[in-house]
Amino acid sequence: MSKSEADWCKKIEIWWLLRDIKEKGGYKYTTVSWGENGSRGSISIQVSICNEEKYARFIYTQTDNSTGEKKDFDYKVPIVETPCHLGGNRYWFKCSLYKSGQYCGRRVGVLYKDGDWFGCRHCYDLTYSSRKVNKKYRYFPMFRVIELDSQIDKAYAKAKRYTYRGKPTKKRRRIEKLNAEAMHYYQKFAQTKDKY
Ligand SMILES: [Zn+2]
Repeated sequence: MSKSEADWCKKIEIWWLLRDIKEKGGYKYTTVSWGENGSRGSISIQVSICNEEKYARFIYTQTDNSTGEKKDFDYKVPIVETPCHLGGNRYWFKCSLYKSGQYCGRRVGVLYKDGDWFGCRHCYDLTYSSRKVNKKYRYFPMFRVIELDSQIDKAYAKAKRYTYRGKPTKKRRRIEKLNAEAMHYYQKFAQTKDKY
């Protein structure tokens, strides 16, 4: 893995991962890649929400930057559901990283991979603050992405319904707008990272 690949911050959004899960009967196996033609690496994800145990299983191989040693990863991140006020369910990842020996367990809509594992923005210390932006200035567009992602999480938690009389609700449109903005900054982040 090249330096730029190792530095790459990958992210997976739950709503994107589960967008077609209902048609697939609550189970799917998919490959996700980053960068042009997977130049930033790819991973396999097995998703199951049809049984009591709901999870996303992440499978990938990573090459250590300094030793060149290949390491295989295969682990499950639990998916939890919360009931919607007006029926139906909302799904979240339950971050299963340990930070300073403490299990995280946070309910989040987006997981990032800024190291070896997929975890939440809190575990990777990716939450927005000007202090950190100064420290990690190269990440600047990424901080905007994370800020937007956290707004999406909040809007998603509050949204009572997504459609009303067959039309997307105001909340839904807001989430889509935030998502489009997050995508824009993520692409910007991609371009910045390409320079290194
Ligand atoms: Zn976490």
